Amino acid sequence: MSFGHPPHILVVGGGYVGMYTALRLQRRLRQGEATVTVVEPNSYMTYQPFLPEAAAGNLEPRHVVVPLRSVLNGCRVVSGSVTGLNHAQRRAYIAPNQGTPYELHYDVLVGCPGSVARTLPIPGLAELGIGFKSVAEAIHIRNKVIERMDSAASSNDPQLRRRALTFVFIGGGFAGIEAIAELEDMARDACKFYPELSPSDMRWVMVEASGRVLPEVSPAMGLYTLKQLEHRGIEMKINTRVKSLVDGHVVLDSGEEFDTETIIWTAGVKAHPLLANTDLPLDERGRIKATAFLQVDGVEQAWTAGDCAAVPDLTRGEGATTSPSAQHAVRQARLLANNILADLRGEPIAPYEHSYAGSVASLGLHKGVADVYGMKLRGWPAWLMHRTYHLSRVPTFNRKARVLADWTLALFFRREIVSLGAFADPRAGFREAASPSAAPAAQVPASAPVLSSKSAGHGEPNASVTGGRKPAATRTVGPAKPSGETSVA
Ligand SMILES: Cc1cc2nc3c(=O)[nH]c(=O)nc-3n(C[C@H](O)[C@H](O)[C@H](O)COP(=O)(O)OP(=O)(O)OC[C@H]3O[C@@H](n4cnc5c(N)ncnc54)[C@H](O)[C@@H]3O)c2cc1C
Repeated sequence: MSFGHPPHILVVGGGYVGMYTALRLQRRLRQGEATVTVVEPNSYMTYQPFLPEAAAGNLEPRHVVVPLRSVLNGCRVVSGSVTGLNHAQRRAYIAPNQGTPYELHYDVLVGCPGSVARTLPIPGLAELGIGFKSVAEAIHIRNKVIERMDSAASSNDPQLRRRALTFVFIGGGFAGIEAIAELEDMARDACKFYPELSPSDMRWVMVEASGRVLPEVSPAMGLYTLKQLEHRGIEMKINTRVKSLVDGHVVLDSGEEFDTETIIWTAGVKAHPLLANTDLPLDERGRIKATAFLQVDGVEQAWTAGDCAAVPDLTRGEGATTSPSAQHAVRQARLLANNILADLRGEPIAPYEHSYAGSVASLGLHKGVADVYGMKLRGWPAWLMHRTYHLSRVPTFNRKARVLADWTLALFFRREIVSLGAFADPRAGFREAASPSAAPAAQVPASAPVLSSKSAGHGEPNASVTGGRKPAATRTVGPAKPSGETSVA
């Protein structure tokens, strides 16, 4: 195909498909053959299978992402989002992370903005829930778990402690199972540093609407996973739906009710809503209709792959499409780049055909489950396979070395149990110091209870001091700063 000029290839999204496609194009394009622009709101690609390990503190968060500008140094990287596409006119509407939106002209499109959490209209979910798809979410959840442990350990209110130490995950697929297993493992480990808490004070709950977990592995391995997690004290509520989450009060369709402050939603994904703002053909699930050659169905010079695309699965026959997984995304990206190059050079393109190899999942340190090419492994061997597989897959030698270094250090040192939650509002301390009434008045209960680790013991706090209730009254000690007076330390 001739454009009369070096064609401009626009890659929408710098995730698995986007980064790998751009990387391969950058390596294989001849001088002056084409230019490549990648539009991505983050400055990095996220290796999502490592998010549970990052949340558990086994991996440094910076090591589970790949900086796009250093890896894609032969491409133009735009930090922003595509908000719409008019492919007929080859125009993309770009909202840069800062500044005025603009139009970008291109010749060849690679549409791969991935997926977003598939939520349900459950009352309270939008207000309190959080997903588990980004580094920010994984680290926020880690911080929150540790913060709640800190709060519970420092409180003598049994209700507060119970609520703070209840962690609810909704959705028992890969992301949910790995996340709950890794975080429970981390919290159990962390209990060693909290004399006021024991693992049995914590309540970890997995709610799954279907009759099994980990549909990605065989039913027998799914059952093994369920039993393993139950054995660790995780409440596995299968065939159960959440009816309401208002103010953290969980109501299940089984009639059970309890309170929590932590709700993690991992109940599947749906195609990115951006696709609705394009002239590309979509299927009934909002995914881009693709051919087996990874071309957008019936559209010229438009390609797609990954979670956002309905790619025919030739290994499973008529009507089947490839599942949203890194396994397919990486392989599709390689073929996608090859096909674009072949098309530019007038050579034949090839169809995508890969039968799902199986899955590996980590269930915490030294625990796992694997079902790969019919080989079923459990426990330590599966966990080792999980690590070996993902180490071989994580992009760039630099990241592999850093991940390996993290794991090696973890053999000799305890994992870090620290919440850097203040990162969410780093200016808070300075704002407070700079505000006119810098020192808040101290609040001391009328009959000050004493919380000691000995008296609180492992379990209920010292109820004899508080009577298990919040203190009835508080008194203020020390003069409150008159407004307008600035405290200078
Ligand atoms: C916790 C977790 C664990 C997982 N573990 C496994 C596993 O073990 N094995 C496995 O096979 N799969 C796993 N997956 C699934 C796998 O990570 C995804 O299937 C894969 O990332 C899909 O690749 P993608 O390129 O389609 O989407 P993504 O990798 O999500 O990339 C999409 C990119 O598009 C960007 N984007 C979004 N909107 C816009 C916009 N408007 N403009 C520009 N860019 C945009 C996003 O920021 C993102 O970087 C896991 C997923 C999660 C969340």
